Amino acid sequence: MVDLDAIAGNVRAIAAMTRTDVMAVVKADGFGHGAVPVARAALAGGATWLGVTSSAEALALRDGGITAPILSWLHRVDEDFEPVLAAGVDVAVSTVPHLRAVAAAAARRHSVAMVQLKVDTGLSRNGARGSDWVDLVALARAYEMAGSVKVRGVWSHLADADQPGSPLLHGQVTAFRSAVRLARAAGLDPVLLHLANSAAAISAPATRFDICRIGLALYGAHPAANLRPAMALRSTVVNLKQVPAGTGVSYGPDHVTQRPTTLALVPIGFADGLPRAAEGRAEVWVGGARCPVVGRIAMDQCVVDVGDRPVRLGDPVTVFGPGPDAPTAADWARWAGTNPNDILTGIGPRVARRYQEVAA
Ligand SMILES: *Cc1c(COP(=O)(O)O)cnc(C)c1O
Repeated sequence: MVDLDAIAGNVRAIAAMTRTDVMAVVKADGFGHGAVPVARAALAGGATWLGVTSSAEALALRDGGITAPILSWLHRVDEDFEPVLAAGVDVAVSTVPHLRAVAAAAARRHSVAMVQLKVDTGLSRNGARGSDWVDLVALARAYEMAGSVKVRGVWSHLADADQPGSPLLHGQVTAFRSAVRLARAAGLDPVLLHLANSAAAISAPATRFDICRIGLALYGAHPAANLRPAMALRSTVVNLKQVPAGTGVSYGPDHVTQRPTTLALVPIGFADGLPRAAEGRAEVWVGGARCPVVGRIAMDQCVVDVGDRPVRLGDPVTVFGPGPDAPTAADWARWAGTNPNDILTGIGPRVARRYQEVAA
């Protein structure tokens, strides 16, 4: 179940905190929540931009009827940029060859491509650095003069956003400011500067600039107190059995019961996004309490030791979600040695997404 009210409320909470515009990051199918419904809810909550990774993701939003501004930021150099330009999507550009391809596609369409140039300020992924940045802004200005490109934005991505006091973060802000100065010196006039993701937007005001790119916090999976988790992953008990001490559970068996107990079978497994790396630590909420997942998590199912709790066939099971004592996506991330994004985007296609609509 995806609570779209929580998404809209999280946008409002973040905008109140940052006092900037919010770009709702809906890549990877809205972090597994469903890109189109999440985008609609985020826009209802006041987001002014949507951020995606690829042209395919941008075009899927347009196909879903969404007309809001979109930035798409990771592209093959031989990509055909005409469809995204025709759809009015801003293209992020990190290299001279990409810029040439975007400008050529715009010229073929007799239109102006809106681009946002990405500078590498220390993450060492996409973005241009050093003399490549100087070349990129110079060529972008030449295309502006020729009428095929307009540079709307300059942006970068942080490497250490979780550490507000980190020298790395401070250095990236400084590098970003000087990259913007170089762009202006080349004659560009970017009106949209952005650097912060969720963690930085919340805890490092110097990274906020004009707009913050919000993923994790949009979905309520960032620990800031006034955010609400949007996703609840739920299943039900499909088998129950009382077993004596010494009973092997699931494949292996890696787990053997230490006492007589009751085992509940839950039809959700690693194909649905339950990470096997959480085995031995994971818990789910069932019968009014957290109970341990025991033995190996299988592709389609897992076994929960419910002890002597009054659990019945068909009872609801919360893998993670809101509720006073239910596990969170962050708990699953900790049990599996990963981050909440990994848990949320790992929810498989077999899990039906149901939506609780935004209250009118
Ligand atoms: C995924 C992504 C974000 C969102 O990051 P969160 O930490 O989830 O807020 C922001 N910017 C870029 C470039 C991203 O790829």
